[in-house]
Amino acid sequence: MLFLTLDIFFYMKRFLIFLWAIIFTSCQGEQKKALEAETQESPNVIIVLVDDLGNADVGFNGCKDIPTPNIDKIASEGVKFTNAYVSYAVCGPSRAGIITGRYQDRFGFGRNPLYAPNDPNMGLPKTEETLAEALKRANYKSVALGKWHFGVHESLRPLERGFDGFYGFLGGGHSYFPNKWVLENEYEVESQFEAYNVKLLRDNTRVEEKEYLTDALSREAIQYIETYKDQPFFMYLAYNAPHTPLQAPENYLKRFDTIKDPKRRTYAAMVSAVDDGVGKVLDKLHELGLTENTIVFFLSDNGGPEQHNASDNGILRGGKSDLFEGGIRVPFALKWPKVLPKGETYEKAIISLDIFATVLSQTKTPIEPKNKLDGVNLIPYLTGEKNGSPHEYLFWRKFDKYNFAVRNASGDKIIGLKEDITLFNLNENIEEDPKFEVQDLELSKGLESQYNLWNAQMLDPVFLGLLFDNQYNKEHPDRFKNPNLD
Ligand code: CA
Repeated sequence: MLFLTLDIFFYMKRFLIFLWAIIFTSCQGEQKKALEAETQESPNVIIVLVDDLGNADVGFNGCKDIPTPNIDKIASEGVKFTNAYVSYAVCGPSRAGIITGRYQDRFGFGRNPLYAPNDPNMGLPKTEETLAEALKRANYKSVALGKWHFGVHESLRPLERGFDGFYGFLGGGHSYFPNKWVLENEYEVESQFEAYNVKLLRDNTRVEEKEYLTDALSREAIQYIETYKDQPFFMYLAYNAPHTPLQAPENYLKRFDTIKDPKRRTYAAMVSAVDDGVGKVLDKLHELGLTENTIVFFLSDNGGPEQHNASDNGILRGGKSDLFEGGIRVPFALKWPKVLPKGETYEKAIISLDIFATVLSQTKTPIEPKNKLDGVNLIPYLTGEKNGSPHEYLFWRKFDKYNFAVRNASGDKIIGLKEDITLFNLNENIEEDPKFEVQDLELSKGLESQYNLWNAQMLDPVFLGLLFDNQYNKEHPDRFKNPNLD
């Protein structure tokens, strides 16, 4: 009798384990299916960010001497923006705005960071969430290619900031030809601009690259699309072209024999190399059937420094580092064939900070950002679901120069230099010609008070920037010393 009872107990136990295994496996299957459904529907995201490109130097903004047929496709197959801004007029802070979706002064990134391998505070603060970190919550794979510029210290590098892959360089610029990359690593650098000559990194390992830098980044971009094709991915494709130094190989230069100015000719060749790369990226998406559900953004991080790289901001006043339109109004286009109309022109003011909010609201399960965003989701404005202006006010601040600007949705803009404030209406005077300065004290005061409200929420810079190179060296005599060596 006892044996019989034990026997029944034994079989019951076996049966229960079997039942549990079926239920568990089927739950796992359901979870897997749900994950697959989500990942199939969340769009891929590619940000093509170029460096110091002039506003008038793409075909979709009327450029005549540099054909950009592939970049133009992003506009013709999607939306071209005529009032698109970045949040700062030079590289580092503008990029910090893009990658966080927040005004960079909220977290003290008001300066171009220095190349400082031993300084964990010289770069993007850990209080901030990058787009790659946020997208992890929707099972994205992310890769950063090209210029990083969010910190050289090992704790600030791409793989520590949500990216699964990286190919590029950590500083604010780089030489373009492999024979220039003679420094083995960051500790062989002895001054700020020598960092242009360090070997490239794949993830955290130095590599021997053989190609012209722009071509190498394009090659990596299409390889990563292949690698990540079966899941949603985010690619931050940050070409350093056409930032100085002006360097281009013969195969691109010979396309521009008709341009006589040697600087403009080299600049044109550099832009053309980027355009070829964009073409390869778009072709790869097409080949893999990913075109429909991939959002592709194209923009420059700031206006062209016309004197330095022979870029052209067209009729806009000023250029890189100015808060006039030439410094902050950039070429900007995006396409997403699955959702957005083709060939649309959007004229209301938008800002690069909108990229983050737009992307987060379009994953299958919308992601809540860790911090409050300053950008907005642009999609309803582009589909016509919303008719108003995405932003009532946009703000800019150059902390060290006592320089600021604010514009409203109607195109009224003040630029302040200490106490001296000038008012323009951009709809009537996009050139910001001082002859047509608007005299309206009430309007000017109103904009100034909006700026003051905004400014009160901002932080002073939390690190010394490029303009403080000498001071930083004095305070940090071991700036480039390898801490692991005596
Ligand atoms: Ca730049």
